[in-house]
Amino acid sequence: MAIINVLDHQTIDKIAAGEVVERPASVVKELVENAIDAGADAITVEIKDGGISFIRVTDNGGGIEKTQVRNAFLRHATSKIASADDLTSLVSLGFRGEALASIAAVSMVELISKTLPDLTGIRYVVEGGIEKEEEEIGAPDGTTVMVRSLFYNTPPRKKFLKQPQTEGSYVADLMEHLAMSNPGISFKFIMNGQTKFYTNGNHDLHEIIYRIYGKEISEQLVPFHFNVDGVVIDGLLGKPVINRANRSYEIFYVNGRYIKSTLISKAIEEGYRTYLMQHKFPFCVLHFQIDTSRIDVNVHPTKMEVRIADEPLFYDTVRNAIYQALHETEMIPEVTLDDKPKDKGIKTNIKETVPEPFERQRIAETENRRCDAKLVASEKRTNDTTNYTMPLSQPVPDRVKEIPVYQVSKDLIQNHSQMQLFDDKILSDHARVQYEIIGQLFDTYWLISYEDKLLIIDQHAAHEKVKYERFMKRFRDHDIVSQTMIPPMIVTLSGREEECYLKHAEDFHALGFVVEEFGGNEYAIRSVPLDLYGYTEQDFFREILDELLAEPLKGTPEAIRIRIATMACKAAVKGNMRISRQEAEQLIDELLTLENPYHCPHGRPTIISMSKYEIEKKFKRIVT
Ligand code: ADP
Ligand code: MG
Repeated sequence: MAIINVLDHQTIDKIAAGEVVERPASVVKELVENAIDAGADAITVEIKDGGISFIRVTDNGGGIEKTQVRNAFLRHATSKIASADDLTSLVSLGFRGEALASIAAVSMVELISKTLPDLTGIRYVVEGGIEKEEEEIGAPDGTTVMVRSLFYNTPPRKKFLKQPQTEGSYVADLMEHLAMSNPGISFKFIMNGQTKFYTNGNHDLHEIIYRIYGKEISEQLVPFHFNVDGVVIDGLLGKPVINRANRSYEIFYVNGRYIKSTLISKAIEEGYRTYLMQHKFPFCVLHFQIDTSRIDVNVHPTKMEVRIADEPLFYDTVRNAIYQALHETEMIPEVTLDDKPKDKGIKTNIKETVPEPFERQRIAETENRRCDAKLVASEKRTNDTTNYTMPLSQPVPDRVKEIPVYQVSKDLIQNHSQMQLFDDKILSDHARVQYEIIGQLFDTYWLISYEDKLLIIDQHAAHEKVKYERFMKRFRDHDIVSQTMIPPMIVTLSGREEECYLKHAEDFHALGFVVEEFGGNEYAIRSVPLDLYGYTEQDFFREILDELLAEPLKGTPEAIRIRIATMACKAAVKGNMRISRQEAEQLIDELLTLENPYHCPHGRPTIISMSKYEIEKKFKRIVT
C-alpha cells in the first residue's frame, strides 16, 4: 500500500518555486519588476557567474516597512492587490505574491530596505526558506535584494542550468529589453565586476540604444511614429545596412511589455521586404500602444505572448506604416574610408563612473538646480515648438497613468525633417539633373559626381532592380506579356518535377509561361515572360522547378514573389559587362522611377556614396 505523505511547507515552496524561478534571468526579472512597482527611477543589477552565485538588485523605490518584511517573503503575500476584485484594475507588473517566497526557497537571500519616512532600515536574511537574521541597520532609501547560490538546495534544478556565460547572456538580454521598455528609468547593469551598460532615464530611446548597442547601430536609425485607428507605434527602425542574421533584434513592446509575436514580426519584415536580403532580419525597437480592448495579454509570468483583435487589419496597418517610413528615408549607405575596424558589437566596459540608485537623489538635486538655471536662460532664447526638453524632475511613476514618452534625439529629428524640407534625396529627379557621370569602373560600376559626393552605382544590382520592379509591376497589374519561343523549347521532366509543375501550373501561367504537354514526360514551353526573355530562358523553367522541389512553396503570395525575384535576378545583366554611357544614363533614369531604388531584390545596395570629406581625410587634407 502506498503511503500518502502530506508535504511540509518548505518542500511545497521548493516545488512551487520552479514555476517562477527557472533560471537567474527569471530571478532578475521578478526583482526588477518589484523595483519598478515600487516606483524606482534608478535600478542597478549586478550578477556574478551568470547570476548563479550572485545577483544584486538595488533600487531607489518606496522601500518595505520594517514590520512588513517578513510578510513580503510569505507565499501569496502581496501589497499589490487585496482581493480578486482588484485583479480587473491591475496595473502593477507583479501581483501573485510569489516571487520573493519562491526565490528565498531555493537560494540564500539578503534584503536591505528603508522607506523614506523611517530613519533606519532593516536587514533580513532567509536561506532555503528559513529565516536566519533580522536586524535594524542604517541604509539608503530604497531596497537592495541579494540572491546567492541559486538552487544550492535543489541540485536537480541546478544541473538544469546552462554554463554561467550562457545564463549571463540571458540576463543581459533581459536587462537590455527592460532598459528599452522603461526609458524613464535609469538602469545600470554590472556583470562580473564590469559595467555593461548604463542608461540615464531621460526618456531618450535613441540614447538607450546607443548605450546598449553602440555607435554604429545608433547612427543607422530612422525615427518612427505612427498613430492611426487606436494603434500608436513609437520607436526606431534600423536602416538596412544594420540588418541582422536572426530575429532577436526585432524588439517590440506592447503597452510596455516585451513580447514575442509572430504576427508583429512578420508585419515588420514584410514592411522591410524590399530592403532585406534573404535570410536577413531588421533591427528595430518599437513600442506599441494598443487599446486594451483590442488585445489579450497572456498574464502567465514567463509567457510573453499577446493576441490582437482583427489580425489581418492590424498586420496591414503595421506593414504599410513601416514600408512608408522606410520609403521616405534616404537609404544610400555612406562609405567611410576609415581603416580602423568599427565598434560593431555590443558596448562593454563603460569607463564613466555611474551612480548607484541611492546616489541619484543627491545628483538629481544638483542637476535640477543647474537645469532650472539653464531653462530660464534657454526659454528666453528659443521659440522652438518641438517637444524635446526632458522633464526636469522625474516624479515617481504612477503605473496607472503612466504612458511612456519615447523621445528621439534632437539630431535625428532635425536631419529627417531637413531632408523632407529640401527634398534633397540623392535619387530624385531634382538631384538627377546635377549628376555628372564620370565613367565606368571595372566594367561594373558607374562613378557619378553629385554635389560634394561621389556616388557609385553597381550596374548589375541596378539593372536587376529595374527589371525586377518592371516585372513585379506587371505581375501585380496582371499585365504579364509573353514572348513566343520559335521553335518551342522541349523539356523532359522527372516524376517529381512533373508533379511539382502540375501543382504550380497556374503560377507558371500567371508569370507568362505557356507550357503544353508534348507526350510522355515531355513538355513544350511555347512562351516565356517578355521582361525576362533573352538571357537564360532555357534554364529558367527548370531552375524554378528545382527551387520549388528543394523548398516547396507554402502557397503564400510572399513565397511566390521570392521565386519571381530569383528569376528576375537570374535573367538580369551580369556584372563584368560593358554598357554604354547612354545605356547607363537610361538605367539611372529608370532607377529613379522606382519605389525603392536603393536595393536589388536580394537587398544588396544599388548605390553607395562617399563624401568629399571622407576622401579629403584620406589624403590628409583634413586632419581629424
Ligand atoms: P508581488 O510582487 O507579486 O507582490 P513579491 O513576492 O514579488 O510579490 O513581493 C512581495 C511584496 O514585497 C510586494 O507586494 C511588495 O510589497 C514588497 N516588495 C518586494 N520587492 C520590493 C521592492 N524592491 N521595493 C518595495 N517593496 C517590495
Ligand atoms: Mg513581484
